[in-house]
Amino acid sequence: MQLWFDPSLVFVGGAWRSAKGGTLPVQDPSNGDTIAQIARGNADDIADAVVAAETALQGDWGRMTATERGRILTRIGQLVAERVDDLALIEATDVGKPLTQARADAVALARYMEFYGGAADKVMGETLPYLDGFTVYTLRQPHGVTGHIVPWNYPMQIIGRSVGAALAMGNACVLKPAEEACLTALAFADLARQAGLPDGALNVVPGLGAEAGAALTTHPGIHHISFTGSVATGRMVQTAAAQNVVPVTLELGGKSPQLVFADADLDRALPFLVNAGIQNAGQTCSASSRILVEQSIFDQVADRMATAYRALRVGPAKDDLNLGPLISARQKQIVSGFLNLASADQVIAQGTIAPDAPAGGHYIAPTLISGLGPDHRLAQDEIFGPVQVLIPFKDEADALRIANGTAYGLVASVWSADGGRQMRLAKGLRAGQVFLNNYGAGGGVELPFGGVGHSGHGREKGFAALYGFSTLKTVAAWHG
Ligand code: NAD
Repeated sequence: MQLWFDPSLVFVGGAWRSAKGGTLPVQDPSNGDTIAQIARGNADDIADAVVAAETALQGDWGRMTATERGRILTRIGQLVAERVDDLALIEATDVGKPLTQARADAVALARYMEFYGGAADKVMGETLPYLDGFTVYTLRQPHGVTGHIVPWNYPMQIIGRSVGAALAMGNACVLKPAEEACLTALAFADLARQAGLPDGALNVVPGLGAEAGAALTTHPGIHHISFTGSVATGRMVQTAAAQNVVPVTLELGGKSPQLVFADADLDRALPFLVNAGIQNAGQTCSASSRILVEQSIFDQVADRMATAYRALRVGPAKDDLNLGPLISARQKQIVSGFLNLASADQVIAQGTIAPDAPAGGHYIAPTLISGLGPDHRLAQDEIFGPVQVLIPFKDEADALRIANGTAYGLVASVWSADGGRQMRLAKGLRAGQVFLNNYGAGGGVELPFGGVGHSGHGREKGFAALYGFSTLKTVAAWHG
């Protein structure tokens, strides 16, 4: 892994400097080796970043037209596209994800910049019919300084959707990446600098959640917070934001179901059913961890998924197998704790960890489970590991009841040839995205994404994100 920037620094006001809180070691999850010292940003670093962002808003960045902002984002996307292989290797080493997945994330980051670059000057207000003698119109304006807290599982994709949309609308951003995996956030900042993004429009302060993260959520100079992470932290972030009365977007976890009916095209469904559970070793907010199957085809689906599971291989990110390691020893402990809740006869198939996988890596075999009720903890709690639970259902009503029977509501899919059933379930499923005869695992760059219930609120991705990262002003002019 070749870094062209110093990972131990923060990026504030367009310049690299040491963090006031010192440094932290960061591990390669494939072998447990320390690969870098990263900045341990603290409240003072966050305060400096907020000042730099405010200065940018009062300077070149704040005065820039939407078209010029769009051109800069497009240029950032081009630089990201030129460095896809470098970024993929950095992400694979830092997060432990297989190279193919890491590469897909880098390509998605470039695409986010392209999409939001093109969208920047296409966000419009309205003129409103009103009383005689008035002309009324609305303006979409940036919030000001936006805070972005990002987890370790898909750093590049989440930075793309959140920072990309915020910059397109003319906000100045303070980004706090995860302490476990922040290297591509720093690489992105450097590419943005090279592309000509004005100083202070994007500031990156790595550090611990309880230090830099908490300082960001409580800082009175932050006007909007975009948080992606766990429900527990999301609650703290929303509570902190409430003190300053600022809006928050919460992108939290999920327990997303796929509903498989007897009339489904199983040959098409099967790869989606499995991949949506094991992609990124199950550490995906939109992972499909519940597979609900109509009783008459339950055994057939279970057998076919079990065969697919037995063929899955787990190993170091660079070997580019089906799964890499989990992010940390702690995450492995959490997932193993969940697996201990299943009895041996409920585990119907597992993949294989490569015999030469380094002992210091955090490997876990993907596991397919059956024979549990829909209220069991394994069918209710987000595991955030490569574990899927198969649950039978009797009919459409039963399927909908089980699907909607968790605290989460992020993504769902329906596999059926019956168009009426597809439409009924698309309306009835409690989720921010519903896929019919496919599963997008979070969907594309263009598709609004977000949850209901404990999965969070607000929408990122697509054009919808531009509304979230702006505020609407009504101007009423009386001219007689
Ligand atoms: P986490 O909540 O522990 O950490 C996420 C981020 O929050 C990190 O940057 C962390 O440093 C920061 N943080 C931690 N404590 C903080 C505090 N007190 N104040 C402010 N920031 C703080 O989550 P995680 O374990 O890193 O990520 C896994 C979770 O994220 C899962 O639940 C997953 O479902 C969710 N997730 C959701 C989405 C989505 O789009 N809905 C995407 C990815 C991950």
